[in-house]
Amino acid sequence: MAPLNSRRVAYVTGGSRGIGQAVVRALAAANHHVVAVARNREKLDQLVGELTAAGLGVEPAALDVADSTALTASIEKVIAEHGRLDVLVNNAGITRDGLFLRMEDKDFDDVINTNLRAAFVACRAAARAMIRARWGRIINIASVSGITGNAGQVNYSASKAGLIGLTKSIARELAGKQVTANCVAPGFTVTDMTEPLPPRIKDEVREIIPLRRFGTPREIADAVAFLAGDAAGYITGQVIVVDGGMSM
Ligand code: NDP
Repeated sequence: MAPLNSRRVAYVTGGSRGIGQAVVRALAAANHHVVAVARNREKLDQLVGELTAAGLGVEPAALDVADSTALTASIEKVIAEHGRLDVLVNNAGITRDGLFLRMEDKDFDDVINTNLRAAFVACRAAARAMIRARWGRIINIASVSGITGNAGQVNYSASKAGLIGLTKSIARELAGKQVTANCVAPGFTVTDMTEPLPPRIKDEVREIIPLRRFGTPREIADAVAFLAGDAAGYITGQVIVVDGGMSM
């Protein structure tokens, strides 16, 4: 039996950049040992080096979450090495936008496999340790696109709506074991994902956001950190929308 890490252990996919990186920082600052997952090892090593130097507990796991075997093996290794897995944040996500009449099967499948199937695989691999501990937090990063739909994003919004259904079903299955499952649904957030939008489109988007600005990764991470903590123990099966009021 592996020695039990005295800190809560969190596994955060897409932890190298953007929202995921902010989640890694927030959970590490809240005294978790955090496993940060992404494909690009160099970016991960930079982040881990910085946070480790600051005395925080972080380790990298370089893998593609669409590879179910690698993802399952990585989570099982974390549980074996630390003796626990308390928090799972399924944040890794991609877009392959295009009008649906012209969308290729591959662009649909790639988005579903990375954004939705990987979350299912990770939840399945992580749940047993949480059930054993009678404590666990699953937090899936959805999107307002999964609630309202978005032209040019049938694949992406289907993956995010699917994530909401997946989360609610898992919440029902695991509630009796004191394991919660919730979604955070960001609106437009300043990251590499939204950076390529033309300035004209960004201006138009700001016009339809009641708070008149994009969110910051930190603002999304704060909602995730809340759901990961003891203060959120009675919240399960919910979608917390963090979008400056855009979808109200
Ligand atoms: P970024 O593109 O800035 O970062 C994505 C992160 O996920 C990176 O760390 C990336 O690292 C990792 N990643 C992507 N694909 C994979 C993969 N196949 N395997 C492992 N890691 C992967 O995205 P954001 O921070 O903007 O988005 C994070 C989440 O928030 C996503 O699920 C997104 O859909 C959601 N979201 C974002 C919004 C926004 O406005 N930014 C709005 C609503 C939701 P690497 O490339 O090295 O693998």
